[in-house]
Amino acid sequence: MGQAMNLVDTHNHVTPWSPDATQTYEQLMEETARRGLHGVAICDHYDPNSKTDDESAWKFDPQAYMDAFYSKRRMPSKRKPGDPPGFLLGIELDWIPEKKQILHQVFNDHPFDLGIISMHFLRGHDPYYVPEAIYTDKLETIYNEVINDIADSAEEMSEVQIIGHFDYFSRYAPDADSKMRYQHAPQAFDRLFKIMIKNGQALEINVGTIHSLMKRRGYSTNEAMPDHVILNRYRELGGRYFSICSDAHHVERNGLHMAEALAYLKGLGITEFVWFEERELRLP
Ligand SMILES: [Zn+2]
Ligand SMILES: [Zn+2]
Repeated sequence: MGQAMNLVDTHNHVTPWSPDATQTYEQLMEETARRGLHGVAICDHYDPNSKTDDESAWKFDPQAYMDAFYSKRRMPSKRKPGDPPGFLLGIELDWIPEKKQILHQVFNDHPFDLGIISMHFLRGHDPYYVPEAIYTDKLETIYNEVINDIADSAEEMSEVQIIGHFDYFSRYAPDADSKMRYQHAPQAFDRLFKIMIKNGQALEINVGTIHSLMKRRGYSTNEAMPDHVILNRYRELGGRYFSICSDAHHVERNGLHMAEALAYLKGLGITEFVWFEERELRLP
């Protein structure tokens, strides 16, 4: 409360649109107001490999999503004192290189405010369910592959605004010290950042990763923060845009560790977090 003037939490999930979400739109909006946020975005999962449209599909019907939420949008930039927080409509696209035409199509054929491109699979495997298929080598090798794949996604999906959770694969690596660091893959990070800067894409600080590293690997809050060398390198190369999000799927995860993350980032001189309205960059 009061922690977050002009802060837009740009990446969250709601039921029934994401199968792993339990919070409703109404609950999310209640939490957003309680936290005193300037706005919030929902970005439900879109996995182009997901076959069916039943309740467990990792894919939603974009037209039905528009029908449900388009009229509820409120632009944070147009917010006046006393207005409720802004509400933006986005999508979290799963990077599947072979399905890139579907990703372009779903994003470009529907009026999302923002798109996030996220990697949840490596070599077709899900790190949550089959870590043994992914973490087959030392972290340097795996993270180099991951960041290069994310760089491919940023390059191919140049029309999306945000590069989601670059550190997602650190959540599930079996190593005791799984936190992702610049030194794991310096050339891959440089390649990714140069592509993002060329495309004007924002680097997402995903507070969900901080929570996951604390819970799964026993890091302290401070140790679980994203590697400052990564963030500083992005800025050193000319990166200016950071977004920040809870990536909340459940009510209690809204804003969890956000205050600590903001304090940590402030210590690095990172105090501005962007959002997008009708795909246009907005600064606080
Ligand atoms: Zn994700
Ligand atoms: Zn997400």
